[in-house]
Amino acid sequence: MSDCLFCAIIKGDIPSTCIYEDEQVFVFKDIDPQAPVHFLAVPKEHIPGPADITVDNSCYVAHIYEVIAKLAKELGLEKGFRVVANCGEDGGQTVGHLHFHVLAGRGLAWPPG
Ligand code: 5GP
Ligand code: ZN
Repeated sequence: MSDCLFCAIIKGDIPSTCIYEDEQVFVFKDIDPQAPVHFLAVPKEHIPGPADITVDNSCYVAHIYEVIAKLAKELGLEKGFRVVANCGEDGGQTVGHLHFHVLAGRGLAWPPG
């Protein structure tokens, strides 16, 4: 998608701090961290958001969760972490490319506000 911020980050047109990359997924630090650890895991394929996950692209979601589990071990997040995918206006989604926030390093309130 030509006007998508995260597609531009994946391509390297906009700089980011990448912590993991393979053929399917790109993982980078959030520019405005909400916890001591806050990174975003995104499929390289442009999927607008959680409401657009289908039988044809859910393989990327499964792979992203495998990558998150691997990174959590490598980063020593044994106390726990939270994975969040915001969807649409009420869900607080501001970037229209599917992304999974991974937050850790402090106790996280529940339910969210
Ligand atoms: P959303 O609000 O859509 O769930 O999450 C979008 C996230 O992208 C926000 O946490 C925001 O801080 C992050 N973000 C927005 N623009 C940039 C950017 O240019 N670089 C990086 N690394 N993160 C960004
Ligand atoms: Zn995109």
